[in-house]
Amino acid sequence: MGQFTQAISEIEDHLGRLLDEIKSLRQYVQYLEEENIKLKRQICAVSEADTERVQKNAAKIQKEAHENLERLYLEGFHVCHLYFGEQLDGPCLFCTAFLKKD
Ligand SMILES: [Zn+2]
Repeated sequence: MGQFTQAISEIEDHLGRLLDEIKSLRQYVQYLEEENIKLKRQICAVSEADTERVQKNAAKIQKEAHENLERLYLEGFHVCHLYFGEQLDGPCLFCTAFLKKD
């Protein structure tokens, strides 16, 4: 095979690989676009009432968690990040600061 012929067939190989890559990229983009449309539809499907309910429940859960921590502290256990779950030996500044913060 001549030098030029060889060079041309190398370029052809290279172009072939690039075309394959472009094909798979095109498929990936198509998949992403379909996924995007699906997700947009799902967002629209969540009603305002549902969103409101989720927010209300989240607030309720947070309040309940805080009350549980307060109870735990009153029963004599640390609720601070430093000693969480350990038995209290008198009042703890970290615990009281943590309970006040919420
Ligand atoms: Zn503590």
